[in-house]
Amino acid sequence: MNENKAILVVEDDPVNRKLFRDILRANGFKVIEAATGKEGVDTARQGDTALILMDIQLPELNGMEAVGRLKAEPATRDIPALALTGYAVQGDREWIMASGFDDYLSKPINIDEMLEKVRRWYGAAAQSSADAP
Ligand code: MN
Repeated sequence: MNENKAILVVEDDPVNRKLFRDILRANGFKVIEAATGKEGVDTARQGDTALILMDIQLPELNGMEAVGRLKAEPATRDIPALALTGYAVQGDREWIMASGFDDYLSKPINIDEMLEKVRRWYGAAAQSSADAP
């Protein structure tokens, strides 16, 4: 089980980062934070992350580059990654998913939708780690 594992929020905007952190903590999740793509990759590699929420426009590595690196590494490739995107217009879904994300949330965030997707993907991560040999 991964019930002690955290949700990693990778977001460079401090107001958004605090908002996501507060929503997730208020709903019982442990949250760790990163402010750049590189910091997000380094933090995910430390092994305490069950689910990643990743902004697209980030310093150092953008969200697509960062998720590409994580999905290329055996230790991190099974961590579900949800894009936090400000421009999910029609057609964007394809390049978001093609870059390695498992799902996405459009900003401004709808809190109910965010929690529904977070619970679904966090639960999926718990299930796959329970199935692991
Ligand atoms: Mn950003």
